[in-house]
Amino acid sequence: MIYLGIIILLLILAAAYRWQFWRLPKKGLLALMYHHIGTVDAANEQYPFTITPQRFEQQLDMLEKCGFTPVGVDEIKQAARTGQRLPPKPVLLTFDDGYEDNYHLLFPILQKRNIKVLIFLITDYIGSRPGYLSWQQVQQMQQSGLVQFGSHTLSHARLRRLPNEEVLRELTQSKKTLEEQLGVACEAFCYPFGSGGLDKRVRPLVFQAGYTLDFSTKPGINPWPWKGKKTLLRAFPRGGETLTDFYIQITRGKSKF
Ligand SMILES: [Zn+2]
Repeated sequence: MIYLGIIILLLILAAAYRWQFWRLPKKGLLALMYHHIGTVDAANEQYPFTITPQRFEQQLDMLEKCGFTPVGVDEIKQAARTGQRLPPKPVLLTFDDGYEDNYHLLFPILQKRNIKVLIFLITDYIGSRPGYLSWQQVQQMQQSGLVQFGSHTLSHARLRRLPNEEVLRELTQSKKTLEEQLGVACEAFCYPFGSGGLDKRVRPLVFQAGYTLDFSTKPGINPWPWKGKKTLLRAFPRGGETLTDFYIQITRGKSKF
């Protein structure tokens, strides 16, 4: 009897560890961090950065069913500036790095469902490395009005390891390139490896370079209105995770430690 009790207790602790169900659902701006949309082979627990198109669509269905409203980064920028409210249960979908599969596999889904996303580009890799987007693809997505772009530095640098002038170069040059290529102001920035988002030295440089919104890899849901004092958190739906995990992610901001 005692053993059974211990086993049940362990099972409860394991479920609590994975699904964080002791946390209460949080209100605020939900941002989701994705990378690749890709094949079943790539989308597994070992490689958490790939989600299959099917699973991504199931996640979009769940967001809709739960009453979330996808918002573009423009709306967020505007609301952050003026203090105005966002639609109920706002969600911002973000994709890091600028992989080519975002054009081939993500973009058709966005067009079909009329959903906006924000993609953070490593500007030196665009049009020059295999597996990354070309500027033509970037421009085509931008013209649809469904995809907006932010900077993810020039070279995916760990900003905390760089001296100030190098950090500023990564920040300002990538911003300049994006603005030249796209003809619109680039105000959203995302720290590679999350490096610098919590850093007292690096974060002010991001704002000094002219960005107004900064995104980390730290999971959570952002209290709204956002005062700009903290880097924006993003929940991280991983490849191979269940829809239950996803539900916990979108209501609690994370499903695992
Ligand atoms: Zn990255």
